[in-house]
Amino acid sequence: MKKGLIAITGASSGIGKAIALKFAKEGYPVLLMARRVEEMQALKLENCLVKKVDVTNADTISAAIIEGEQAFGPVECLINNAGVMLLGDPGSQSPEEWQHMFDVNVKGLLNGVHAVLPAMKERKNGTVINIGSVAGRKTLPGHAVYCGTKFAVHAMTENMRMELSAHDVRFITIAPGATESELISHTTNEDIKSGYEDWKTDIGGAIRAEDVANSVYFAFSQPQNVCIREIVLAPTRQEP
Ligand code: NDP
Repeated sequence: MKKGLIAITGASSGIGKAIALKFAKEGYPVLLMARRVEEMQALKLENCLVKKVDVTNADTISAAIIEGEQAFGPVECLINNAGVMLLGDPGSQSPEEWQHMFDVNVKGLLNGVHAVLPAMKERKNGTVINIGSVAGRKTLPGHAVYCGTKFAVHAMTENMRMELSAHDVRFITIAPGATESELISHTTNEDIKSGYEDWKTDIGGAIRAEDVANSVYFAFSQPQNVCIREIVLAPTRQEP
């Protein structure tokens, strides 16, 4: 069977990088998109196109998808993984922080969907995997806006799943709990940041990005008529 193109946003670190490595190992051509090109090039993957993409810019993501399809054929699966987590409370944190979270986590994801969906619908084939979060199912202290973005991811994914089901296009949510990555490093509130690190230690550590990548691959690799709608995975000792 010819393996189709896997397009991954946020492939320069953490979960996205682990997903890129997993799919490449399984023999799929991959289109890697993020702003830090050197990190993606350093992976030195075969059948791989690396593109500098800011997901908040619809044109750059569409252009990358077109170039990827010219090189490797239609996108078989888009994995909307790019995301930022700037914990804080909207009353005191800078509006730029919560605007940025919505721009990347919500609008960036929609830019990805917009770039691939018409062709998937036409072909009656394709999969879109959106990286949600436990924070897309539960509210958590300091997470008001981040939870807002991830609840949006879960809602939009399920809504599109219903709407595209008749076109044989699958929409899947993968919702990780605490996972080792660079995610918390961008939070500017130092108290929240150190509290988060302490919490991770208390629960015996986070899961690995590779654990999440394996779940993504498992969901994707089911037959096209089987849609695993959602996987929630977290450290066993994570309570919320
Ligand atoms: P990382 O910070 O390690 O990775 C985030 C990725 O997103 C990077 O590759 C970054 O690339 C990319 N990114 C950020 N902003 C943009 C942008 N504007 N345009 C393109 N790419 C962008 O964190 P994770 O691997 O943990 O995060 C991946 C996803 O997993 C996120 O959606 C996150 O919300 C979700 N998640 C993470 C959890 C965790 O505990 N780690 C738990 C639940 C969900 P670059 O900076 O090069 O552009």
